[in-house]
Amino acid sequence: MALTGLQIQKLLPKTNCKECGSNTCLAFAMKLAARKADISQCPYASDEAKRVLGEAYEPPVKAIQLGPDKSLKLGEETVLYRHEKTFVHQTALAININDTDAPDVIDQTLENIKNYIIERVGEEIGIDMVAVTQESDDTEAFVKLAQKAWETVKRPLILRSSNPGALAAAAEAVKGSGSVLASATPKTADELRAAAQENDHALAITAPDLNELVLFTAKLKTDGFNDLLLNFQSHSLSEQLQINSIARRAAIKNNYKPLGYPSLTFLQAHDHDLLEDTVGAVTEICKYGGICVLPSFDPAQLAALITLRLNIYTDPQKPIQVEPKLYAVGEPKPDSPVFVTTNFSLTYFIVSGEIENSGISAWLLVPECEGMSVLTAWAAGKFSGVTIGKFANDIKLDDQVTNREIVIPGFVSQISGELEENMPGWKVHVGPQDAADLESFIKARLN
Ligand code: SF4
Repeated sequence: MALTGLQIQKLLPKTNCKECGSNTCLAFAMKLAARKADISQCPYASDEAKRVLGEAYEPPVKAIQLGPDKSLKLGEETVLYRHEKTFVHQTALAININDTDAPDVIDQTLENIKNYIIERVGEEIGIDMVAVTQESDDTEAFVKLAQKAWETVKRPLILRSSNPGALAAAAEAVKGSGSVLASATPKTADELRAAAQENDHALAITAPDLNELVLFTAKLKTDGFNDLLLNFQSHSLSEQLQINSIARRAAIKNNYKPLGYPSLTFLQAHDHDLLEDTVGAVTEICKYGGICVLPSFDPAQLAALITLRLNIYTDPQKPIQVEPKLYAVGEPKPDSPVFVTTNFSLTYFIVSGEIENSGISAWLLVPECEGMSVLTAWAAGKFSGVTIGKFANDIKLDDQVTNREIVIPGFVSQISGELEENMPGWKVHVGPQDAADLESFIKARLN
């Protein structure tokens, strides 16, 4: 529960010494309440004040950081629905390998995971994790496979076994990888907690129902270990969706800490049904999955899931932007035509794609428009003859191209005169309103 400024002030020394940069302790407390300051700025804050404030401002879903550099982040969610604010850390996708798989299948899968990259809206996205599952009784083989997966792919692992001794040995073998041990039961908790703690891994825990899981997380937290993931047990997709929703609702709406952890789900459809697995993964991405383990590598499935995940986890408050600059589409020469559009990612990718489709090479001038689309940017005064002309001048466009003809989007034909005034010596062409018509425009007007 968030504290008010007055409640926070009672925890501070009240000496008004100003060392935190605020004139009074109350002013500093107000900043803390608004999350515009950090308690570490007060050198005299007591341990009790730090503890109380730390707990009060902890996100309802705990942050778990994985990987050798802790760069894979899960949890820290604060809302149930994306439109309320934003989702923070996206569902991590992992591919499973079993220690009973044929060696050539394992090698091929690891290579596929290592090399898989998909580009979406200017971002290169790969597979986040590898799950290594022990199906055999051979601890040594399991440990060796974990080492091999880590050395080949260099991404955090999910080590999965029902044998706590094998998990502990594998945890030690990949120490420093910032992986997950899966999954501790109340019986194996002590041994696996020690293995996770000593080797700097997180621990997934499981129990037959939510009541037992709640007791389990509370006990581990009391014992001093809190890097946990929840591996819910369910018998169907609908049950999985229901449990994910109950846990997340309890954590966010009731600030119920024993269920405030990211989840870990292993998908395994009956008869290895790819469609069923995909529906399971879609459910995890849309409804609160922390890590989702896919049973096999399928690039088409991954492309769909990653695209969906980008949509769900894009911050609706921040338009996706590309860097403002002069882009080369194809292999333009100095006398190639110049087009201009805004730096809203979607607009940029559509326009550059349509220019590419037309078969010509061209320059695409993309000024800073705060990620707005053409009409919005124009209405906000960010995409005018003055701003485009200034940007062209700032990047010395005249020195980079010899062509002096620029094509503006048809929706802003009204800026053509102003743009010619601000780009002396340039002729402005009004292009089509719809980017889909660029190809025919280029063929009719520029070829
Ligand atoms: Fe008060 Fe601490 Fe700021 Fe000094 S540094 S004014 S004690 S909050």
